[in-house]
Amino acid sequence: GVRVRIAPSPTGEPHVGTAYIALFNYLFAKKHNGTFILRIEDTDATRSTPEFEQKVLDALKWCGLEWSEGPDIGGPYGPYRQSDRKDMYRPYVDKIVESGHGFKCFCTPERLAEMREAQRAAGKPPKYDGLCLHISAEEVMRRVDAGEPHVVRMKIPTEGSCKFVDGVYGPVEIPWDAVDMQVLLKADGMPTYHMANVVDDHLMKITHVARGEEWLASVPKHILIYQYLGLEPPVFMHLSLMRNHDKSKLSKRKNPTSISYYSALGYLPEALMNFLGLFFIQIAEGEELLTMEQLAEKFDPENLSKAGAIFDIQKLDWLNGRWLREQLTEEEFTARVLNWAMENDRIRQGLKLSQSRISKLGELPDLTGFLLKSDLGLTPDAFAKVKSTPEEILDVLNQVQPDLEKMPEWTVESIEAELRASADRLGKKLKVVVAPLFVAVSGSSRSLPLFDSMAILGRSVVRQRLKIASQ
Ligand code: ATP
Ligand code: GLU
Repeated sequence: GVRVRIAPSPTGEPHVGTAYIALFNYLFAKKHNGTFILRIEDTDATRSTPEFEQKVLDALKWCGLEWSEGPDIGGPYGPYRQSDRKDMYRPYVDKIVESGHGFKCFCTPERLAEMREAQRAAGKPPKYDGLCLHISAEEVMRRVDAGEPHVVRMKIPTEGSCKFVDGVYGPVEIPWDAVDMQVLLKADGMPTYHMANVVDDHLMKITHVARGEEWLASVPKHILIYQYLGLEPPVFMHLSLMRNHDKSKLSKRKNPTSISYYSALGYLPEALMNFLGLFFIQIAEGEELLTMEQLAEKFDPENLSKAGAIFDIQKLDWLNGRWLREQLTEEEFTARVLNWAMENDRIRQGLKLSQSRISKLGELPDLTGFLLKSDLGLTPDAFAKVKSTPEEILDVLNQVQPDLEKMPEWTVESIEAELRASADRLGKKLKVVVAPLFVAVSGSSRSLPLFDSMAILGRSVVRQRLKIASQ
């Protein structure tokens, strides 16, 4: 039968893009009476965390995308977390090396950086130059025995091209010349994404791989790995990425993209799934409101657009409004609202900060409302109470944005430290820097403490609000 999977890497706040790909796979499984699997791809140990993994599970559950096999519930082909499967990849890597399709590479990070720098200077795309391809077997043995750190890379044909048929794109041809001699096994013995992904799809009997378009260029490597191992590749389907109206990719550097953002603002999971599901079906105007069951019935993977799925937030708002008005009874609506408030992290944190700042509970909506809005509706007179000239306000807003961008982590403490440093650099008092930010972020000059508010809202919302305020 059909077996599909969502294979997120737990390296950040779960992304609406992950929900979009997961929904496709979920509907595909439902349509074909197949099995939908969750696999955690945490081979990048430096960026993966158990906290993000838990958030991925929670976010997918919130979406209503339940899996039949996964790290939390097990299944016949477990474990379903790649870091727990470390020993399973080794024989496959060995097989590739022993059959002459892979080689050990001793190049140091410094040498690789130099190589890439030279390639960049020559206007060439970065690609391993094959230096270690030519080391003799005896020397390889000697260097391995001497404990010299090394990785395993795959060999790539020197001419011709890789041809395959993608379920969405149709026939694709990529010249081998454009394909890098991918690292399969890292120096620490962990496989790379490519190696682990192929081995796991094989061992977990995955029949169809549906994922984001950004992986299309990796298919030649994957097909080659299957071939080197004597295995049959699954069917590949690459879904167009979600884009903004201006065709740019929806990305966390530009948009709020976390699923938790949408749940915190009070979108219903049914409405979000309805909205994302419309990318996978063809329907007439007036028939947009669809439950998960109806989406599965109408699901039509043959007719996917390559043009890109436009993430039209107004359409999402419209659908969410319809779900609230048309699909919930009064009792259900009330229950949903109370549940939303109870489970809402922004509300919880906002309340904690509010307790010492109010004299009546009725003041709470005014004080904390900015944490729950997508649009503050900021007008220039919002800045009237800030004791700086409009030019100075604009200057501060513009100057701090790049400083905030370069922060490696986003916490109350790091935000405060960074803004203090910005004030020093600008030769201004902290107050002068903080006052306009306060308004830009909260919409008012009487609000919750700035650094906490910024931490609660998250980097992408703050980025968006500062951009709007400095326009
Ligand atoms: P960046 O700002 O670095 O481009 P990002 O928004 O692409 O970040 P990632 O952390 O790289 O976010 O991606 C997380 C997951 O979301 C990946 O599985 C990726 O395939 C998916 N994803 C990211 N952007 C989109 C998009 N525009 N459409 C569909 N899926 C996406
Ligand atoms: N871990 C990859 C991701 O997060 C999975 C890609 C795939 O489905 O092969 O995008």
